[in-house]
Amino acid sequence: MVVTASLRPRALRLLRLLSRPGFHLFLTGLLMVLGFVLAHRISERSGREQLSALSTERLELYASNLAAELGRHASLPSLLAIAPTLQALMQAPEDANARRAASQMLARVNVRAGTHQIFVADARGQVLSASEALTPPSRLTEALAQGRTHFFAADPTTGSTDFYLLHPLRGASQVSSAGAGEIPLRGVIVVRFNLAPLEATWIDLGLRSQNERILIADDQDVVIMSSVQAWKYAVLGHADPSRRQALQASARYPQAIGPNLDLPASLEVHQGQQVSLPLPGAKPMLAQQRQIVPLGLRLVALSDLTEVRQRAQLAAWGGAAFGASIGLLVLYLSSRRRALRQLTKAQTELQQAHALLEQLVDSRTAELRQTNDALKTQIAQRLQTEGELLQASKLAVLGQMSAGLSHEVNQPLTALRALARNSIRLLEAGRQDAVATNLQLMDDMVERMSQITRQLKSFARKADEQVTGAVSLLDCVRNALLLLEHRSRALDVQAEIEVPAGLRVRAEANRLEQVLVNLFGNAIDAMQNEAERQLRVQVIAQDGGRRALMRVQDSGAGVGEADLQRLFEPFFTTKPAGEGLGLGLVISAKIVHEFGGTLRAQRLEHGMSFEFDLAVETWAAVPETKDV
Ligand code: ADP
Repeated sequence: MVVTASLRPRALRLLRLLSRPGFHLFLTGLLMVLGFVLAHRISERSGREQLSALSTERLELYASNLAAELGRHASLPSLLAIAPTLQALMQAPEDANARRAASQMLARVNVRAGTHQIFVADARGQVLSASEALTPPSRLTEALAQGRTHFFAADPTTGSTDFYLLHPLRGASQVSSAGAGEIPLRGVIVVRFNLAPLEATWIDLGLRSQNERILIADDQDVVIMSSVQAWKYAVLGHADPSRRQALQASARYPQAIGPNLDLPASLEVHQGQQVSLPLPGAKPMLAQQRQIVPLGLRLVALSDLTEVRQRAQLAAWGGAAFGASIGLLVLYLSSRRRALRQLTKAQTELQQAHALLEQLVDSRTAELRQTNDALKTQIAQRLQTEGELLQASKLAVLGQMSAGLSHEVNQPLTALRALARNSIRLLEAGRQDAVATNLQLMDDMVERMSQITRQLKSFARKADEQVTGAVSLLDCVRNALLLLEHRSRALDVQAEIEVPAGLRVRAEANRLEQVLVNLFGNAIDAMQNEAERQLRVQVIAQDGGRRALMRVQDSGAGVGEADLQRLFEPFFTTKPAGEGLGLGLVISAKIVHEFGGTLRAQRLEHGMSFEFDLAVETWAAVPETKDV
């Protein structure tokens, strides 16, 4: 448990470190270096292996070329050995005829076999007969002494390296001091052929393929054939001055001994070894050798490693690029993962915020709904109160009017009683005409009284219909004035009415009359103590005749500036207690508002002006529009 607890923070620290962009850049660099080194190694190794395999194949090819070239003439000496002409020569080596015959035969064979020279020598190396006049190579005596069947020798005149095939010619068996049964050597057939054409094909190959060099070294490690002319007669390994002197003195080579090539002696076929030749401009090369045992020769192939190295370098940069790509991919994936993680986190936070907001909205909505419900209740209560107030206001107006009404009704009633009594007496007197006149007067009075009661009835009713009808504004003005007639007559108010007879406005007659009664009533009240009592009612067309502005002006006492602001406040009144409720203007403004208009008050020099606008249904004659 303790171990796990201590490991966890370490693992977390490690994880945090691994997810840092800096670490990813470091990783990218590391992968680049690794990619570079690995790709270089792999490419170089595979290039070397390929080159080595190719070189091995070539070595085999060159070796078999050489073997084929040598093998072509291998059986020629033994065939010549059984020729009767040569056997006759061996029987009589000093016979000039036998020599001439042998020479002629050898010349013919030489031409047909395509060899360079063929000659027969005695056991000491003296030429007995030859395909042409010649000097035997100095190595012949040495070869005869060693009992060799072939040797290479350089021709100082041509500078070429020639191959010599030897076939011993022996006489009959005899006992000698050397040993019983030994057949004495009487002579030797020598076939000389030139390897220059083969060497020329190698040089040609070497010129065509810049990447590969081929050379053949003899048993003294001296290069006797090469695709590079400069290396000819160079020492394959390393020769100190004394050995170089000895080689030079051996007279085996037509030229001076060349430079030391310093190739290691342990070169093997199939396992190329990198060497650097100590020559100016020499490049690193892969060296392989193959022994040609029967001839005592070493065939060496040198392949240029430059291309392999260039390819390895290319591969190394490719590997570095690959490593960098992987590193960058890891960086990209890690940043993407980080970005996705942040996105998910942001989304979660957003969702949480959203949920919180929804909760808030829900709670706020609930609160608002409660408030709304409360408001609705308040509005309902208000409406109820307003309705009640409206009724109360009407009752107040009715109360105010009751005095006037009783006067209005009592007067005609008294007159009616007088007229009725007078009519009875006139009937008794038989004055029918006078009775008829009385009855007419009585009818007029009853009509007037019923008119008043009709107005009162409609005024007191609670009006709640929609404003759909069109009413005559002049009728409404007249009805309102009629209701207040007793007061205006008592105060001798001069009423000036400028309302077109045909004008019909969108309103409800009862309520419009209520507004007018209120405005006229207030005007009459204001003019009560004034010397001049003038009430002016006029209509002005507005909005191209689509609306009508109703204006009520009086020459009353008016109100102060401070009171003007408070006129439409409920219960604001300047009238003595019991006379004013302070509701008339409030209710009037509300009614006008319901008709789609606005009630405004204005102070005049003498008196007040109240005005409100209404939608026009028709004008009898469309008046000119005036600016208000
Ligand atoms: P009330 O008439 O019951 O007082 P109103 O709302 O009708 O209620 O009027 C409120 C007040 O406005 C009145 O008390 C009066 O002081 C003032 N007022 C209304 N009309 C006029 C007017 N034409 N001239 C002067 N004052 C007025």
